Amino acid sequence: MIAEKQYIIPTTINEAIEKAKANAGHFKYLAGGTDVMVNRYQGNETSLCLIDITKIDELKGISKQDNYLRIGSLEILEELKFNTEIKTEFPMLIEAALSVGAPLLRKTATIGGNVLCENRCLFYNQSEWWREAVGYCLKCEGDICIATGGKNACFSELVSDTAPALIAMNAEIEFIDENGKQKQKLENIYTGDGVKPRNLSETAIVTAILLPLNKNYKTAFFKLRERESLEFTSLTSAVAVDKNGNIKIALSGVDPKPVVVEGTTSDDIQELIKKAVKSARAVENDMYSRKYRREMIAVFLEKSFAKLFE
Ligand SMILES: Cc1cc2nc3c(=O)[nH]c(=O)nc-3n(C[C@H](O)[C@H](O)[C@H](O)COP(=O)(O)OP(=O)(O)OC[C@H]3O[C@@H](n4cnc5c(N)ncnc54)[C@H](O)[C@@H]3O)c2cc1C
Repeated sequence: MIAEKQYIIPTTINEAIEKAKANAGHFKYLAGGTDVMVNRYQGNETSLCLIDITKIDELKGISKQDNYLRIGSLEILEELKFNTEIKTEFPMLIEAALSVGAPLLRKTATIGGNVLCENRCLFYNQSEWWREAVGYCLKCEGDICIATGGKNACFSELVSDTAPALIAMNAEIEFIDENGKQKQKLENIYTGDGVKPRNLSETAIVTAILLPLNKNYKTAFFKLRERESLEFTSLTSAVAVDKNGNIKIALSGVDPKPVVVEGTTSDDIQELIKKAVKSARAVENDMYSRKYRREMIAVFLEKSFAKLFE
């Protein structure tokens, strides 16, 4: 075990993974830091070693590769809007990126950090003394979920706004871990367990997000939050319909993982909406009630399909 605090700045992926292995169990990768540093301030993230990956050029850049648009994981949210391919083929990604936090955050926050940002809960994202006073919770080594009173499951929520937009447009995630370079559908990295919300190995580095080109998506994106100027999501909905009539709905803010429902334009749309509402395991752990957020899923999806089919 390492004994003292370290701040490491590797310049290659290999170097970063080597440092990560050497500090296994005690490190955190740092990209924009807008999620990690706040969690450290609140005592929810206490790793002795920070591995700052922002100097790794291999993680930067946006380019066409085969039939994909490849977006490096260090690409900054605020800057996605300047890319011509994203503007023409995937404008919903820009909408989602520009809905994250506030301008200052978006000028630092990266797309990789956004899809990997830590799940949140009203009873977890509190100061150390607050959490201690209530006896902690399942996500911070307590015995009980304060939101539900249960002992088995943590319902901290996925709050990424770009994840649902990317998933609705069939994004894949590319990463390098001990087994080499791999990719999989973005939704498959989310476990649904609020304590360990993603199944990537500890040392895995996300290298890029891949979006399939030439799908001619029509899209609709909505976000529910208390203050438009700053807040995390209480419900984000993203719907995409491709040129062949394939529909993909993705939600965040209402479950520990993205809620994903797929269909086609010949399906009963009301049934797809009902399925999305039913799949969302929202609990009372947000500023808005569970009932209201579930009702808002139907409202957002009705609005989305009205826009898409107008
Ligand atoms: C006030 C406030 C409001 C916010 N509002 C929103 C919001 O509305 N919507 C939203 O989605 N988020 C919001 N956030 C959270 C955060 O700012 C964003 O999710 C941001 O995109 C995180 O990106 P980052 O680069 O700063 O990630 P970091 O904080 O650097 O990292 C986040 C996580 O990803 C890991 N990580 C980052 N990059 C990689 C990589 N390439 N490979 C492997 N692991 C990696 C880190 O280890 C960490 O676990 C808000 C934060 C604050 C403080």
